[in-house]
Amino acid sequence: MPDSVSEFLRLRQDADDALLLSLLADEPRDDTALFAAADAVRRHWYGDAVYLRGLIEFTNYCKNDCYYCGIRHGNRNAQRYRLTTDEILACAAEGYRLGYRTFVLQGGEDPYFTDERICEIVSALHRGYPDCAVTLSVGEKTRESYQAFFDAGARRYLLRHETADEAHYRQLHPDPMSLENRKRCLFDLREIGYQVGSGFMIGSPGQTPETLLADFRFLQELRPQMIGVGPYLTHPDTPFAGQPSGDLKRGLRIVAMLRLLFPNALIPATTAFGTVAPNGRELALRAGANVVMPNLSPVRVRKLYSLYENKICTGEEAAECRGCLERRIEAAGYRAVTAVGDAAAVPAAECPVTTA
Ligand code: SF4
Repeated sequence: MPDSVSEFLRLRQDADDALLLSLLADEPRDDTALFAAADAVRRHWYGDAVYLRGLIEFTNYCKNDCYYCGIRHGNRNAQRYRLTTDEILACAAEGYRLGYRTFVLQGGEDPYFTDERICEIVSALHRGYPDCAVTLSVGEKTRESYQAFFDAGARRYLLRHETADEAHYRQLHPDPMSLENRKRCLFDLREIGYQVGSGFMIGSPGQTPETLLADFRFLQELRPQMIGVGPYLTHPDTPFAGQPSGDLKRGLRIVAMLRLLFPNALIPATTAFGTVAPNGRELALRAGANVVMPNLSPVRVRKLYSLYENKICTGEEAAECRGCLERRIEAAGYRAVTAVGDAAAVPAAECPVTTA
């Protein structure tokens, strides 16, 4: 029987269930060949570019109670904040001055930020910075809301599905949240014309190789332009307090698998990788990731947007944060790029999975 890694590399943009399951198994293995192949694919499509996105975490209020999340509604220890429109625009102005050309507005599902308020903010950013992309990450909404945000100028939307397995979804989320609605949101976003980002935690409680396989198959169905993954990190003020966090090596292997299956995807080296290991983001870049999202939020609120414990980059100023990241990216063998940076178009013949 051929070695599973070499078989995966031979097939590249797809693999059968047995092969994927063998790679998703929680077993030690040498991933050197997998990482090298993933790096070659990312260099083919994106060269050495690593896209920087300016992240503005504008509210940590949330009406939901996801069991894994540090800013869940039920966490009475969370110190809540909301940025004003002026504060958000000031973050964007500073980001623009530093060269960022993508702004990611991220927040909990905060009822204070009605569709009207979000549209006002998106419109102001779109008017003020027509050469920039506005990305939203504000959770599950109706199709009408998504359309309104799009009409206001938002062009990208991040919404991780977290797990595509129904039983696992129920382990991670209370009623009335549902996997069905999460999927509905993602397909609505895609149909409206957004560049869509989805993804999942690696090592979340209850996750198995089979649920991870379901995640890969769901992503093949959705065909998102962006895929965000990172190790699950436990938070003491959640029902999962004390559960083990996700494993770095397994996370890196999954990044490499995603790069090989979705060659043109924008894949962030997430803060979760940098939290689980000091050089975690650099390792994720070498495994095929090609985006980082420095924090543009005011320093006073950064620690408060605490989805998990010991989150990194909560103290640096935006400019310092950018300089530090650029040096790290260069040291890893890549080049930081502030351009808008859309997903590369892959010709159909070269990408049977993402264009099917
Ligand atoms: S994961 Fe998102 S939706 Fe769930 S509680 Fe946290 S901020 Fe809210």
